[in-house]
Amino acid sequence: MKIIRNGELVLPNEIINGDIMINNEIITHIGHIHDIPAGAEIIDATGCYVFPGFIDPHTHFQMTNVLASTADDFESGSLAAIAGGTTTVINFATPEEGSLIKGLQVHRRRADNHISCDVAFHMEIVDVNDTILEEIPRIVNHGVSSFKVYLAYGFRLNDKDLYRVIRVISQTGALVAAHCENGPLIEALIDELRQASKLGVGSHPISRPILIETEAIQRFITLGALADYPVHIVHVSSELGLNIIEQERRKGHHVTCETCPQYLVLNESLYTLPDFEGVKYVMSPPLRCKQDNVALQNGLMSDMVQTVGSDHCSFNFESQKKQGLHDFTRIPGGVPGVEERGLITYHVIVNERHGSPHTFMKVISENSAKLYGLYPKKGALQVGSDADITILNPHIEQVLSKRTAHTKADYIPYEGMKIKGGIAHVFLRGHHVVDNGEIINDHLGKCIP
Ligand SMILES: [Zn+2]
Repeated sequence: MKIIRNGELVLPNEIINGDIMINNEIITHIGHIHDIPAGAEIIDATGCYVFPGFIDPHTHFQMTNVLASTADDFESGSLAAIAGGTTTVINFATPEEGSLIKGLQVHRRRADNHISCDVAFHMEIVDVNDTILEEIPRIVNHGVSSFKVYLAYGFRLNDKDLYRVIRVISQTGALVAAHCENGPLIEALIDELRQASKLGVGSHPISRPILIETEAIQRFITLGALADYPVHIVHVSSELGLNIIEQERRKGHHVTCETCPQYLVLNESLYTLPDFEGVKYVMSPPLRCKQDNVALQNGLMSDMVQTVGSDHCSFNFESQKKQGLHDFTRIPGGVPGVEERGLITYHVIVNERHGSPHTFMKVISENSAKLYGLYPKKGALQVGSDADITILNPHIEQVLSKRTAHTKADYIPYEGMKIKGGIAHVFLRGHHVVDNGEIINDHLGKCIP
């Protein structure tokens, strides 16, 4: 038995001072415990916030694309997650040999016995045919509760196939999420930049302007409306993108959305850094301007944006990102962030914007658990839930740095950022895995379900 004592407990509907009792892997009591049973392990949480373990709904561990393989595999990615207070990640699985079922099996096998946090999977749909459509309900029965489609990249779906996929998914109750950028238009803009010999990193954001994002968001919501099914937009990067979502909601369309820490605190000026450092920040959608940062922060504060995902997709600066020095289309896109996501979001919402720790809890844990079918086993401090618990000390001041980070990538995009707040303790299904900021137990993660 373990007892977390005297913390500020961020419960589903209120914040109270109290204690939490853990038996085996489950929360068995919340409130004040007056008679401490002999032999109970006591963890003092005085002056700290006690949250349900953070849930990262957007990671790409152990991923290979046409340009490179990610620096982080399930081992290092899940260690970075747990160090940052994240007890569950939802990672992307891709089909194998044209089969969703085989794809899920392969990804589970890669994760099993290598993970230090719990891992669930979204299934990507990169191709549409009778086999894939027939496998969608079957894979939902295997425990997959969400699918992702792309409107950009070589594996994007056309509108007809997007519509067909949404219709089939609508029969299962699963979530359908999309990467919203208009792929053919990006290709046209890249062709123009290539003809003008403008292939430096500064052309990356020019090839993917905000209109490329807003058009795709608008179109995907329209497809959902036609199919009469809610849709989810991942990594919204711009104020205009968020405005489109709000406008469509007012018409009665059901849309949820995610943003990422990089779109809350970083901006496009980073693409002009000297010594090619700009390649570190190549991601899609690209970084926007400060006004977009503020609009997305406002979105989190006012329930317009439901979740924060890291979109952790880690590549090395020296050996991988720099391969695109003279041709930005050769830079593998993505940044690490699974470890920093929780504290950056906390710092922005609670310290900088003076929001409630309860608002933070919803966007960092509860809302993802609800959207992805994990609630209330995950995402809630309540009796009967998994004892996934993150204790955050709001008084610690620190400077984020690669020197203390767990990603295997050779940099973090938040180097030098000063934040207030530190991860004191983490419990994964009752196991004490982070003690005073240090990982003390690893490889205790499980695949869900
Ligand atoms: Zn992603």
